[in-house]
Amino acid sequence: MKKCFFSYKNLPYARFKNIFIMLTTEKQASVKIGQSEANSNTIEMLKNVKTIAVIGSGTMGNGICHVFAQCGFKVHMMDINQAAMDRALVTIGKNMDRQIAKNTLTEEAKQTALSNILTYTDMADAVKDADVVVEAATENIDLKVKIFQQLDQLAPERTILATNTSSISITRIGSYTKRPGKVIGMHFMNPVPVMRLVEIINGYATEVEVTNTIYLLSEYIGKVPCIVNDYPGFISNRILMPMINEAVLSLQEGVAGVEEIDTIMKLGMAHPMGPLQLADFIGLDTCYSIMNVLHMGFGNQKYAPATLLANMVQAGYYGVKSGEGFYKHTPGSKELVVSDRFKNKSWKI
Ligand code: NAD
Repeated sequence: MKKCFFSYKNLPYARFKNIFIMLTTEKQASVKIGQSEANSNTIEMLKNVKTIAVIGSGTMGNGICHVFAQCGFKVHMMDINQAAMDRALVTIGKNMDRQIAKNTLTEEAKQTALSNILTYTDMADAVKDADVVVEAATENIDLKVKIFQQLDQLAPERTILATNTSSISITRIGSYTKRPGKVIGMHFMNPVPVMRLVEIINGYATEVEVTNTIYLLSEYIGKVPCIVNDYPGFISNRILMPMINEAVLSLQEGVAGVEEIDTIMKLGMAHPMGPLQLADFIGLDTCYSIMNVLHMGFGNQKYAPATLLANMVQAGYYGVKSGEGFYKHTPGSKELVVSDRFKNKSWKI
């Protein structure tokens, strides 16, 4: 399916039109939609998606707001921290300016998209008329459980509650609500406006119409959805995080320096960025949380987070978001500068 079309004046109609075209293709019908009864329910659900609340406005939340707002949805950005939302709006504006420079967005479309975003510090106000909620708050099981219990009370009964969690069990999050069938994983990749994948995770109780709606919604905003089942780390982080952790262990053991590890993986394996740079980009706190979930979930020592990773997180070295991790990060600069702590090549923990 093509990306959403900004020039349509009547977006709900355009949305419906696109869905109709998509559902008539054989591939869509056989792979995702299944029975025709589910089709019409899904179309009904998707036609009704107009307002999307995004909980958390950090690295991921701002990107999720960006893509939904750009596709004509009313977006309610919610965070407990007003300063984080102010920063998120600045980031969205700058990222849209990049799209304008590449001729993939007009100034007028940018203004329309920004006007689609409202900010809230009160969850009740943010979700009271939301058709879909996408939760993108800090990766912490207790926090997510609390947020989903609140969402369950405050959002209308029909509302789909999606989480952008990188690793926490969807089934477990859903079990704390009275609507586990409407709880689903909608895992965007970073940076959201650029990365095409959405990993959709079905909890044990997730209803088929909910999966189909999130699938079609993902396609509508120009993403490529892949559906997986609910196991620790799903697919993306079950495979990615042990690689990042292994890179940190290699650094910790003094096998090689930051630049060597990243260069070997970039040039030798054709990865667009090395695992340590990627860890900085994702956030070392997030990487650490995900490794803990894999470790606990599988009960296997091979997933134990590297001590160096734990130490860096405990000391507040989170990577890009805190200004330093394996590299130093200066706002506005793309230069890769290895942190002073790792400049000595024979550095060991
Ligand atoms: P982040 O630390 O950048 O932002 C988290 C935001 O959540 C902060 O602004 C914080 O103020 C807010 N928050 C905390 N408690 C809240 C509450 N009770 N209500 C509302 N907002 C609250 O984190 P992030 O990197 O954006 O990660 C968010 C989620 O996305 C996590 O579940 C993470 O695992 C997942 N994720 C992250 C990446 C990545 O590359 N960073 C990629 C995919 C998925």
